Amino acid sequence: MNTGTNQVSLDDVISIDAKLSDEETLVRDTTRRWIRERFLPGVPTHFENATFPMELVPEIAELGLFGANIQGYGCAGMNNVSYGLAMQELEYGDSGLRSFVSVQGALCMFPIFRFGSEEQRQKYLPKMAAGELIGCFGLTEPGAGSDPGAMTTRATRDGNEYVISGQKMWITNSPAAHLAIVWAKVDSDDASTIRGFIVDTDKAGITCPETHHKMSLRASLTGEIVMDEVRVPADAILPETKGLGSALACLNQARFGIAWGVIGAARACFDEALAYAKERIVFDRPIASKQLIQQQLVDSATQIALAQWAVLHLGRLKDEGKNFAPYHVSLVKRNNCAMALDIARVSRSILGGNGISVEFAAIRHMLNLESVYTYEGTNEVHTLILGRYLTGENAF
Ligand SMILES: Cc1cc2nc3c(=O)[nH]c(=O)nc-3n(C[C@H](O)[C@H](O)[C@H](O)COP(=O)(O)OP(=O)(O)OC[C@H]3O[C@@H](n4cnc5c(N)ncnc54)[C@H](O)[C@@H]3O)c2cc1C
Repeated sequence: MNTGTNQVSLDDVISIDAKLSDEETLVRDTTRRWIRERFLPGVPTHFENATFPMELVPEIAELGLFGANIQGYGCAGMNNVSYGLAMQELEYGDSGLRSFVSVQGALCMFPIFRFGSEEQRQKYLPKMAAGELIGCFGLTEPGAGSDPGAMTTRATRDGNEYVISGQKMWITNSPAAHLAIVWAKVDSDDASTIRGFIVDTDKAGITCPETHHKMSLRASLTGEIVMDEVRVPADAILPETKGLGSALACLNQARFGIAWGVIGAARACFDEALAYAKERIVFDRPIASKQLIQQQLVDSATQIALAQWAVLHLGRLKDEGKNFAPYHVSLVKRNNCAMALDIARVSRSILGGNGISVEFAAIRHMLNLESVYTYEGTNEVHTLILGRYLTGENAF
């Protein structure tokens, strides 16, 4: 509940506007307005009911946010800073919404764009940009999460088809998906090669049951992909995928968006806590007048500002095609997720008892961020990626 009328804007604290182009500001402000008008009023109910507002998908497409940084094929072709700003505004709404858009764009449209044939791009990308086809990304398995190379899903060539069997779990959007990007070990030529496939979810032998009882990302559909001898045409393979590195390249795109997105969740919590602190009277004065509360707010604003400057720098590097390595992304994904989770917890505490109600945003973001901390490479996995880069020692 952000009721502050004279509230300081974090944009001013960060001085970010001075560093954005008119187009970047427009993308941010348009997405921001849409989130406040169309998404925020309904999200507490979706969170409580564990539902996702599918009816908003055409509006998200209209905003150009599916595959927003892809050129051509009906995509908006935004630069990476605009894309990041949009992810941030979406996650100001809810991590589940940003997850939906990240999966569609970075984990499904990007692999088709980067590793697919021209026919595959023409067939899928325009409809995915329009939100007419929804995708999911199946990498994680019950026995293979942080170590996806341990996957057991197999694709075996049989004439003009591949036959795929295996189980994927914790798959965002799978219950609503028309297609899945499935990663599988291919037996025929080289047993150790992991390849990507576009698998239409209406094929015989595939089911995508929803995962229930989540206490995090409740306003997001999560499910399995269970494949029992699913036959797909040979041209369902993404021809340019060459091992696990191809899947990791997709994750790198998504992690870039996450590093921006979680700042939005942190900002939502901060804005709410600041407004609340100015109104809540305890010991005859607003709690905003108490030094300990001010310290919490100042620490939060500082961490948000530093995170914001870091992703802006990285976004500019990415747009300039300069040195942009996976460990750069690990640094900001790891730091910003932990930062946002800390700020959500502190903000929840500033709200006192009210902080445990979903009528306020803090606890919803706090619970969501536990998933974001874990998915797309856990905090520990990114620590080990950076540790390996710094020391040259593989500690996995
Ligand atoms: C809500 C949600 C949505 C998701 N969406 C998707 C999706 O769309 N597609 C998809 O493919 N996956 C998805 N995932 C899966 C997610 O990426 C995995 O959960 C994540 O990679 C961790 O894998 P795991 O759960 O198997 O944990 P594990 O790999 O079993 O890890 C357990 C713990 O051990 C730690 N650990 C692992 N290895 C080491 C090591 N070498 N040294 C020290 N510690 C280590 C981990 O950091 C973690 O703390 C999603 C998960 C969630 C919760």
